[in-house]
Amino acid sequence: MKTIYLDNNATTRVAPEVLEESTPYFSDLYGNPSSAHSFGGQVAKKVREARGQVAALLGAEPEEIIFTSCGSESDNTAIMSALATQGGKRHVVTSRVEHPAIKSLGAHLVNLGYRVTEIPVTAGGHLDMDRYENSLTSDTAIVSLMWANNETGVLFPVEEAAALARQRGILFHTDAVQVVGKMPIDMKKSAIDMLSLSGHKLHAPKGIGVLYVRRGTKFSPYLIGGHQERGRRGGTENTPGIIGLGKACELAARRMEEENTRVKGLRDKLEQEILSRVPNSRINGDRVNRIPNTTNISFEFIEGEAILLMMDEFGICASSGSACTSGSLQPSHVLRAMGVPFTMAHGSIRFSLSVYNTEEEIDLVVEKLPGIIERLRSFSPYWKGGERACAGA
Ligand code: PLP
Repeated sequence: MKTIYLDNNATTRVAPEVLEESTPYFSDLYGNPSSAHSFGGQVAKKVREARGQVAALLGAEPEEIIFTSCGSESDNTAIMSALATQGGKRHVVTSRVEHPAIKSLGAHLVNLGYRVTEIPVTAGGHLDMDRYENSLTSDTAIVSLMWANNETGVLFPVEEAAALARQRGILFHTDAVQVVGKMPIDMKKSAIDMLSLSGHKLHAPKGIGVLYVRRGTKFSPYLIGGHQERGRRGGTENTPGIIGLGKACELAARRMEEENTRVKGLRDKLEQEILSRVPNSRINGDRVNRIPNTTNISFEFIEGEAILLMMDEFGICASSGSACTSGSLQPSHVLRAMGVPFTMAHGSIRFSLSVYNTEEEIDLVVEKLPGIIERLRSFSPYWKGGERACAGA
């Protein structure tokens, strides 16, 4: 059975070009880029080239790029660096819908005695800008807001938010893990001080990330060790990962157009067909202001986990917001923050596409999904022949 992979916000396939570029650095070209000999030197040269490719995608300078191990490390580094360098300020501003890489760090910081403000969002997933502006104080060390939400794809106005922070002398970090490669970014024109990205979300391997740090920003390393990354991140470089990420960034720059037109067209077709064929289904979040590859759809009165299991029988991979595997069956914190009703939030599915998806794949999902939903609803005590059996359910 062929896999239909529509879970690209979780991770992506490594592009064949990326694999080809990075493979020699696992085998023949295994030198350490810090070594004095030319065997290591040729790897250092290739790492420099990759740094330039990443910088080019972001409109940044190569020395503003710090290679890390993942998006989570980049997020943690940005916030911990701000707390270490901003004159003892003890307040962090973030949002209610952040990825756990920020949200769990926030909870950890609260336990350590810091103050963390999570700005609420509207029903469409938009940041409450009045609450945001009012939250900024003279004790705020850093604002960290995600650029695009990983569950709904909804975009935050990070440039506007960064400008407001800058006016008050507050550092601004954005978790751009779901944006890089999908939308143009130009850090030269931006008020953002730090930005996180993750290789495995843009067809590079897992285990490689980047923290962009604007030149002149005070910085304190999170991982303390050797002199790598100009003393800003200790640890021998993941050279195949870095070289693969460089190639992936070069490809992303070239494919941005396709992502914005063909991929968006497939995503729009998928959701329009589902909405028209499946009663009591709806899109979560703003349908206009979002990244082109993502849709989050709720199917009322059934469990997202059950839908996933039945789609899996047809080789269709997506993800759900509820965490059945953890035993909690709690709907996603993102949908709860948006006020999505309980019966809708439980049955939510995120489909996230990539340049490798085809129209035939979308057609197959559209063909299979209505039957899956109908079957599951036939078992639901709250669903009787298209009518709500229990108004308060
Ligand atoms: N931030 C966002 C918005 C994400 O979607 C993810 C991964 O899903 C991360 C951070 C964490 O990235 P990584 O898996 O590279 O640690």
